[in-house]
Amino acid sequence: MFELQDAFARKFHYLRLSVTDVCNFKCQYCLPDGYRPDGRKSFLTLEEIRRLTRAFAAMGTNKVRITGGEPSLRKDFTAIIETVAATPGIRKVATTTNGYRMARQVADWRRAGLSAINVSVDSLDPRMFQQITGENRFHEVMAGIDAAFAAGFEQVKVNTVLMRGLNDGELGQFLAWIKDNPIQLRFIELMQTGEMDTLFERHHVRGAAIKEKLLDAGWQQKVRAHNDGPAEVFWHADYVGEIGLIIPYAQDFCASCNRLRVSSVGKLHLCLFGEYGVDLRDLLAGDGQQAALQLRLRQALADKKASHFLHQGNPGMTPHLASIGG
Ligand code: SAM
Repeated sequence: MFELQDAFARKFHYLRLSVTDVCNFKCQYCLPDGYRPDGRKSFLTLEEIRRLTRAFAAMGTNKVRITGGEPSLRKDFTAIIETVAATPGIRKVATTTNGYRMARQVADWRRAGLSAINVSVDSLDPRMFQQITGENRFHEVMAGIDAAFAAGFEQVKVNTVLMRGLNDGELGQFLAWIKDNPIQLRFIELMQTGEMDTLFERHHVRGAAIKEKLLDAGWQQKVRAHNDGPAEVFWHADYVGEIGLIIPYAQDFCASCNRLRVSSVGKLHLCLFGEYGVDLRDLLAGDGQQAALQLRLRQALADKKASHFLHQGNPGMTPHLASIGG
């Protein structure tokens, strides 16, 4: 078997698969004006997702994260989970969601084979939550997290983008929340994307500064496992929960890159901040094309760069994360 490996000997066992660009939230750092429909786009069908996952799994992928846009807006979302989970070789199926549908559906997702869930919660103050996300749905999302535990998830991961002048004063509240709850709270450093203007300068908080605060307060860093996501994880003897830090501006962030992305229209993206996507869709039309698809993946990987160019102020072609799957 040819494994997905690049010229820097990085192996890719982890696929982030976007199933839609559509989102019903208007997060200030992503889609502040809401999703604008593009009538020409058609998102990957269930059959295309099945073929794509099979090809990746045949090349060593064992973990798939289903993302978007908001993946749970797809009417066949539960069937997508089932299809990915049923693919031989796939051991872990995760999703990243804004959580608005979790209270009603998370038990179905779990029965379909979902093994891990990340929910975005940018504030524990309902008014600030609405200010950041454009949606008055804080209580719904929190009920969704309770429903995930009730459905049998032992841990829920929560994504929080800390922003200066908005939610950066809430660190204490967030820590109090995870003291007795098995939540891995992941602070994501705000990333600059193509459509952002002054927001980044106004609200960016250095992830390294949060790390210093945690270490000073006695949090200790865990060792990474090979198909872990991008977070540096910290634990503390007094807390049931954990903290994850995702610091894309850290110098060595890309050295441990182990993930590839496929957009909702079937383009392979070697990096969230890359320049172009490699079209795979023509090879997803029939079951007989798997060998050609694997060859294209193998050839594309030869072009993966050592690092993104965020430090040089170049965010690449990605207009916002919802467009290729954050
Ligand atoms: N709709 C889902 C959700 O809300 O989680 C999945 C897609 S969303 C693009 C995935 C994650 O990317 C969210 O946790 C969001 O906060 C994060 N995100 C989006 N734009 C970002 C940016 N510019 N910087 C940092 N994180 C960002």
